Amino acid sequence: MKSPLLVLIYTVDCPLRCDFCWCPGDGYKPTKIRKEDAIRYIREAAGLGVVKKAVFTGGEPFLFHEELVEVLEACKGLMPVRIVTSCFWAKTKELALERLRPLVGRGLIELSCSTDPTHQAFVPASFVENAVKAGLELGLTCEIVSVFWDTASRTEDIMKGFRHPRLHFFQHLAVPMGRGRQRGITWQDYNIPRPSQMGGCNLGGCDFFTFTEFNITYSNSQMGGCNLGGCDLNIYPDGEVYPCCAGELNFLGRLSFGNTKKDSLKTILERIQKDAYVQLVFNRGFDAIYGLARWKFPHMLPLLPNDNDLASVCQLCVRIHGDGNLMKALGPLLDYGKKLIEIEQRLEGCKKERNN
Ligand code: SF4
Ligand code: SF4
Repeated sequence: MKSPLLVLIYTVDCPLRCDFCWCPGDGYKPTKIRKEDAIRYIREAAGLGVVKKAVFTGGEPFLFHEELVEVLEACKGLMPVRIVTSCFWAKTKELALERLRPLVGRGLIELSCSTDPTHQAFVPASFVENAVKAGLELGLTCEIVSVFWDTASRTEDIMKGFRHPRLHFFQHLAVPMGRGRQRGITWQDYNIPRPSQMGGCNLGGCDFFTFTEFNITYSNSQMGGCNLGGCDLNIYPDGEVYPCCAGELNFLGRLSFGNTKKDSLKTILERIQKDAYVQLVFNRGFDAIYGLARWKFPHMLPLLPNDNDLASVCQLCVRIHGDGNLMKALGPLLDYGKKLIEIEQRLEGCKKERNN
């Protein structure tokens, strides 16, 4: 099992207005995590022993650059840090170096830069180039993440041939949710498999296809700011904690596993790791849920939603997990699926032991 990440949706504020953004915006309060809470979360997560990295995303965490420096200073040595940003602050490489240097000295190891034609309506690609080149110069691992409304565009074209062993490219298809809801795009428009036939939503599981040359990965799902799949601790400014970072889909899908005002991170993480739906969806995808219904629980098949009008597993997730009655009815199927995964994992463990 991969180590869970601590993902802080540090702020929902952002100077950009991307047309596919699903970050909770107008009306969502509080708009940012308090500095002292961020420090507390990192210290608590480090104490669990299993959380190996903290991710700052949003919104735009660099809106609070000084606070980021303070938080990282207070948590120095506890765990390495990744920050997700649009690079709106990197007008020149010198400015980028100035912004990144104090963070690098305090634990920043990875910089994730979002750019594509939509982001570029607000932030020129040259800003991302400045941030990436400054980051690489300071020893960071960098990634460029693009979200497209079409399947033909390629994220690597943005860097005009610039490659580096520590630079990775990821791209996803936009999901018609949030600001992009009106587009009504479906899996047929994208010419990808239907969401009910896709694999798990963990990175690697649900990749539509992966192209390894030049560190480039194409994926069919949009994982929100962190782009790292799930079973993590994703904390929003209101303290709610989700297993993935999917913006408004987290709320619509009722995917909260607790609130930091009432529960410890240990309790919330245990709930996430024990949950049959999360285990099945992250490890095997909706394909497994529909497959189990066909094979073992045929009376549940008519209950499962139609995915004709959807483009992403996350939309299907909202339709299933957001429906309390459906989730109750699916209980035996989900428990059965979880047991199968556990048996499979045990067998894999035995095989590994034998090989050693
Ligand atoms: S997608 Fe990211 S950069 Fe664009 S508006 Fe939303 S939070 Fe801002
Ligand atoms: S499918 Fe559901 S659980 Fe998986 S990333 Fe999307 S919203 Fe999260």
